[in-house]
Amino acid sequence: MALLQIAEPGKSAAPHQHRLAVGIDLGTTNSLVAAVKSGSATCLQDEQGNTALPSVVRYLSDGLIVGGEALGAQKADPQNTVSSAKRLIGRKLEDIDTAHLPYRFGNGGNIIEINTRQGAKTPIDVSADILRHLKERAEANLGGTLVGAVITVPAYFDEAQRQATKDAARLAGINVLRLLNEPTAAAIAYGLDNGAEGTFVVYDLGGGTLDVSVLELSKGLFAVKSTNGNSALGGDDFDHRLFCHLLEQNKLSALNEQDSRNLLSLSRRAKEQLTDHEQTTVETTLSDGRSISTVITRQEFQNLTRQLVQKTIEPVKQALKDAGVSKADIKGVIMVGGSTRMPHIQQAVATYFGQTPLNNLNPDQVVALGAAMQADILAGNKNSGDWLLLDVTPLSLGLETYGGLAEKIIPRNTTIPTARAQEFTTFKDGQTAMTIHVVQGERELVADCRSLAKFTLRGIPPMSAGAARIRVTFQVDADGLLSVSAQEQTTGVQAQIEVKPSYGLDDQTITRMLKDSMANAAEDMAARARAEALVEAESITAAVTAALELDGDLLDKDEQADIRGCIAELQSRLKEGTAEDIRAAVAKLGQSTDNFAAKRMNRTIQRALTGQNVDNI
Ligand code: ADP
Ligand code: MG
Repeated sequence: MALLQIAEPGKSAAPHQHRLAVGIDLGTTNSLVAAVKSGSATCLQDEQGNTALPSVVRYLSDGLIVGGEALGAQKADPQNTVSSAKRLIGRKLEDIDTAHLPYRFGNGGNIIEINTRQGAKTPIDVSADILRHLKERAEANLGGTLVGAVITVPAYFDEAQRQATKDAARLAGINVLRLLNEPTAAAIAYGLDNGAEGTFVVYDLGGGTLDVSVLELSKGLFAVKSTNGNSALGGDDFDHRLFCHLLEQNKLSALNEQDSRNLLSLSRRAKEQLTDHEQTTVETTLSDGRSISTVITRQEFQNLTRQLVQKTIEPVKQALKDAGVSKADIKGVIMVGGSTRMPHIQQAVATYFGQTPLNNLNPDQVVALGAAMQADILAGNKNSGDWLLLDVTPLSLGLETYGGLAEKIIPRNTTIPTARAQEFTTFKDGQTAMTIHVVQGERELVADCRSLAKFTLRGIPPMSAGAARIRVTFQVDADGLLSVSAQEQTTGVQAQIEVKPSYGLDDQTITRMLKDSMANAAEDMAARARAEALVEAESITAAVTAALELDGDLLDKDEQADIRGCIAELQSRLKEGTAEDIRAAVAKLGQSTDNFAAKRMNRTIQRALTGQNVDNI
C-alpha cells in the first residue's frame, strides 16, 4: 500500500530526499549516462564495468539487444542492426545519402523508416531503445526511479532534430528536464559556470564528426555565439589513412571484405596505441595465408595525417569569424571527443590558439558529466543561484513579406530563449486575411530561403490598405523550438503555429546556406531593391487609379492624359527596368499628381465644411 505524500503548494514533496536525475550523452557512436553521486559527477557502468554504450540496436524476432552485443552482430545481421541513428533523426529521407547504408528503407513518404524483422523502426524508435536501456542502467545503479534527464544534442541541431530527440525520450518514458548543447555541457563539466568570464572554444573531434563551438560566459550566463564543424571528418579518417599506408607498404591491392575490415580495425588500434607509444607494429595473417608485419612510428603516423589535422582548423577559423572574435580573445579551449587524445591534434590546437587546451577530464565522458551536473541542479538538488544556459539560433528566422522578400525577425546567432515582435500591415484595401509564411535562412528572397511553415490569420476587419496593425511574434524556447503568433491589434484576433519542420538541416547544409548568402549578397541586395520598388509602384498605381475614378472630374483632359501617361510609363518599366528606373518612374508619377492631390484636398475640405456650423470645426 502506498501512502500519499502531501506537501504545501510550491514546496517540494520531500525536501531532504535526493531526487534522482541523470545526464545522457546520446552519441552517434557511443552513448553514456552520468549522475551526481555524493557531490561529484560520475559515469554509470554496466555489469561488465563499461561506461560507453555503443549506440547500436539489433532487432530480434522476440525482443532486441542494445550496445556492444548488437555492434558485434552488425556484420552478420546488417538489415536488422541499426547504428548511427543520430545521423538520421529529425531528418527527411530525401536528405539522406542512403546508398552506403545496408538497411531496407520503408516507403512511408518522407519519414525515415527502417524495415526490420520487428517491423518498421524510425530513428526516433531506435534512439528511444538506446535511451530506455540507459534509463534502466541508471535506475538499477541508483536504486530508484528517475525524476528526469538532461539529454545533450549537437549545438547545430535544428528544431526538427531537437523535437525528434525529445520524442525519443518521451517514448522511452524519460522526463526531459531540458536538452543541452554538447559544448555547453563540456564547459559545465570543466566548472566554467563557477564564475569564469570570457570567450571559450569547444573543439570536439569524435569518431566521424568535428564540432566547433564558441561559447561566451559572463556573470554565470552561457551563450553559444557560433557553431561550425564538419560532419564527415573524425577519427575514422585517421584510421583510413593508416589503412591505406599499410596497403601501400605491403603492396596489397584488392582485399576481400573480411581482410579489409580486419586491417581497418587493426589500423584503428594502432592509431590509438600511437597516442601513448612512440611506435607500434601491425601484425596479421590474411585469408590467403600472406602475413604482414609493419612497424609504424608516431612520427610517420603524424606525417601521414598532417593534412587531416590542418583540415580541422578551418571550421575553427570560421566559428571565430562568425562569433566576431579573434584568437587573442579566447580565454580557454576545451577538448572533447576521443580523437582529441592524439598528441598532434593537441599540438595543432595549442599552436593555433597559442595556449594549452583544457584536457584533464576524460574527453569521452566530459559531455555526459556536464549534463549530469545540470540535471542535478534542475532536479532541485542544488541551489543554482541565477544560473541560466543560453544557446543561439544557427540561421536567421523570418517571414515572407509582399513581393517575395524575406524579412528577418530573429537574426542568426541570436541567443535563445528569445522572443521578438514586429508589426506588419495589410497591402490591399479591405483585406481580411493574411498568410504568414515562416522562413529560415540568410538570403533576401523567400525563394532562396528554407520554408518552415505557413498559416493564415483570418478575421481582420476590412480596412483601407496599411491601416490594420498585425503584430507577429517569434518565440524560440530554451530547446530551440520556434512558435510564431500573429495578432491583429484592434480586434485581438489571433492565429499561431508551432514550428516542427518535417526535416532537419545538417551542418553542411547550414554552411552552404551561409556561403550562398555571402556569395550572392550583391545580387540579393539588387533583387531586394527591385522587389521593394515593384511593391511601391503597384501601390501608387492603385492609389492614383482609384483617385482618378473618384475625382477625375477635377482635372481637364490634358492633366488627365499627363497622369495616365506617367502611369503607362511606370507600367512599361516594371518588367525590364532596374530598381532605379522603377523608382524614377514612381517619382515622376508622384510629381504629375501634385496638383491633383491639392485639388482633391480642397474638395474634401469643402465637403467637410458643407452644412456644418463654423463652431464645430
Ligand atoms: P563520437 O563522439 O563520434 O561518439 P568519441 O568521442 O567516442 O566519438 O570518439 C571516438 C573516436 O576516438 C574514435 O575514432 C577512436 O578511435 C578515437 N580514440 C579513442 N581513444 C583514442 C586514443 N587513445 N587515441 C586516438 N584516438 C582515440
Ligand atoms: Mg561525441
